[in-house]
Amino acid sequence: MSRTLSRRTFLGYSLGMASASIWLQAAGSVRQTTDSVIAVNGPLRPSQLGVTLVHEHVMVDFIGAAEINSDRYKEDEVFNTVLPHLQSLRRLGCETLVECTPAFLGRNVRLLQRLSRSSGICILTNTGLYGAGNHKYLPGYAQAETAEQLAIRWIDEWRNGIDGTTIKPGFIKSGVDNGPLSDMQRKLVEAAGLTHLQTGLPVGIHTGNGTAALEEAGVLKETGVPLDAFIWIHAQNEKDLSFHERLAHAGAWISFDGISKTAANDYLAMLKHMKQHSLMDNVLISQDAGWYHVGEPGGGKFRDYNYLFTGFLPLLRQNGFTEAEIKRMMVENPARAFTIRKPPSLRLK
Ligand SMILES: [Zn+2]
Repeated sequence: MSRTLSRRTFLGYSLGMASASIWLQAAGSVRQTTDSVIAVNGPLRPSQLGVTLVHEHVMVDFIGAAEINSDRYKEDEVFNTVLPHLQSLRRLGCETLVECTPAFLGRNVRLLQRLSRSSGICILTNTGLYGAGNHKYLPGYAQAETAEQLAIRWIDEWRNGIDGTTIKPGFIKSGVDNGPLSDMQRKLVEAAGLTHLQTGLPVGIHTGNGTAALEEAGVLKETGVPLDAFIWIHAQNEKDLSFHERLAHAGAWISFDGISKTAANDYLAMLKHMKQHSLMDNVLISQDAGWYHVGEPGGGKFRDYNYLFTGFLPLLRQNGFTEAEIKRMMVENPARAFTIRKPPSLRLK
């Protein structure tokens, strides 16, 4: 596929038969008619995900796109540091972890595949670019290229694999600061939307506040993306809960994903609010925990993944959340949110 497609050609392409073959090819061994989830070890049926943490990190390097490279860490040291944390998580009953570290921030899909095989935890990785942090994590080409050109890069990872491997992304990850979005950030959201149209991958966006989330939803809708494919990452950053109601009613996933012991009561209050408004079908929860900090001795302080299981779920039970509601947040909603559906262009047929 040429990297100089015009928007018109690109959209035309998305409606053509070529799109079907991309999807069928990427869906791999899963029957083309079956919805699937793509993990670093290949496709799964959504029902195979089980208990899932939807937003965690294994390794992050905040040095910035200009200086990042894999010589800055020893992969075996990272592996040996992270593995016991994943094993502990597995013993607590967690079956799947969605790894949300984007390219140019420390995404290493070979490492994720090794960790997944050794721990028995299914891991999902992502394609896309992260525009939060005032664009520090964006490579030079992100500025120069159009949304369509960026989407072509991400669709290529979906078709052919990431970084020379056959490992494919299970979702699109982008990031923006508070609204109003910069032109660059709007372009990334549009590129994520265009990628969704070709692949059916869900779009998760690290988001500064509710104003930004609404603007993202607007850009995605203009691009033709149904909002049930949009995950508002870090929804807890917005304290005005009317934003959560509004976007959940519009179909978006509201991801409260920084759960920790110190902030547990804030999360409890937000979840109670969603429950009172009958919006539990749109809620995702996780911890944004981990990770091996590249550049710090021994990887720095690792925040383990256990608290949600050892402390937060018991707190929910004490506060009247039923097992069915917990299962919805930990099993059913993640399976729905990360299911790769037929791209909208193909659904029309
Ligand atoms: Zn994160």
